[in-house]
Amino acid sequence: MRVRVSRAESARSRGACEGRAPVREGVRRMRNGSRRSDGTVLLRNIARLVTLDHGDDAPRCGSAMGDLAVVDRAAVAVRAGRILEYGPERALVRRYRGAAVRDAEQALVLPGLVDPHTHPVFAANRVGDFKRRLAGATYQEIAAAGGGILSSVRAVREASDARLRRTLEAHLLRLGRHGVALAEAKSGYGLSLRDEVRMLEAIGWWNRRRADAAGIWLVPTCLAAHSVPPEYRGRRADYVELVIGSILPAVRRRHLAERADVFCEEGVFSVAESRRILTAARDLGLRLTVHADQLSALGGGALAAELGADSADHLEYADRRTIAALARAGTAAVLLPGSTFFLQMKRWAPARKMIDSGVVVALATDFNPGSSPVASPAACMTLACLHLKMTPEECVTAFTLNAAYALRMQAEFGSIRPGKRAVFSLWRAEEPAEIAYAFGDNLCEGVWWV
Ligand SMILES: [Zn+2]
Repeated sequence: MRVRVSRAESARSRGACEGRAPVREGVRRMRNGSRRSDGTVLLRNIARLVTLDHGDDAPRCGSAMGDLAVVDRAAVAVRAGRILEYGPERALVRRYRGAAVRDAEQALVLPGLVDPHTHPVFAANRVGDFKRRLAGATYQEIAAAGGGILSSVRAVREASDARLRRTLEAHLLRLGRHGVALAEAKSGYGLSLRDEVRMLEAIGWWNRRRADAAGIWLVPTCLAAHSVPPEYRGRRADYVELVIGSILPAVRRRHLAERADVFCEEGVFSVAESRRILTAARDLGLRLTVHADQLSALGGGALAAELGADSADHLEYADRRTIAALARAGTAAVLLPGSTFFLQMKRWAPARKMIDSGVVVALATDFNPGSSPVASPAACMTLACLHLKMTPEECVTAFTLNAAYALRMQAEFGSIRPGKRAVFSLWRAEEPAEIAYAFGDNLCEGVWWV
């Protein structure tokens, strides 16, 4: 799968919540995995269909974010993997007599979920870090004992390609069981040309060989600027040069990623370093996203807006000016309550201020072995309700239409609407709010590519 958005199209996406035309982009080579017929298929016996269809593919902001556009007792007609139309079941059954039928068995049906921020390529978990933290160790003590991000780097560098693929597969199947049909996937535990390329090649292998059958697709992002690797300790500037001069150009030349990301944070990459890396990536034709304002108000969110990034992610410390800049730029705020919770941070992202200011707010799991080992969007929705003060309905929009927008994939994913990919998540629930309510349970019955 390859997504290409020109600079002009990126610019057009700005002010996304001001009623301008949505971005449309092509997706290549994404075939339909589970289609059983070349003709029309009728997905029927849907107790409640959550379409998020508001007449276009634009993301939803402000008070509109809670409107899910629900149809009761519904059916969806599909042909060649695309939605033809949806509506009340009785009318569609008459119109599509003779079509092949798939029976939803009275499920609640949503679009396939979109998880716009994950780190699913890693070779070993970090349960040791978890235990040390519970025993009172500080971040520095954990790092000194061989834990932290650099332990994931060591494990990836030592793992064979086959092991990287095997563990990636296990992680993605977990996300899929929780309703995810499309996920962003970052590199960032290689931190060398060879190992960043190996991580992105594992993601490419997945999209070529396994995504169809497994029903979950990846948008690859190069996060070579995740940390400074140990061999560059004391030589940060040299590592920034390696990222700009070698890693990003090689990744671009080999079409291994669509986007680039930087961990812009005190002690990691400064705003000036992040600006250099992101500008170089943009000049290579990559789209941008930023780990921003997570542990301090450093300015990563404002930088993301300034550079027209797809999204700024984390944003626990985003201030009023950053929020206004994100709204103006049409840069999505991807909030990651799973990591805020798991790191026991006191400060949660100011989601309500963002929603009220017209920012496109999305949610993601931030699935990774250190700070957010959660593969469940539903669990993140619960946290978003309780700590970000979002409504359960806003959380559904944040994990579907707005999440697709954060990846600039909203023309294909994120709502049930004629012309879009026929990918659905089925839930054992009567109303969408039960997904966030059923804390710790997984109500998802599967993802169907019809
Ligand atoms: Zn992350």
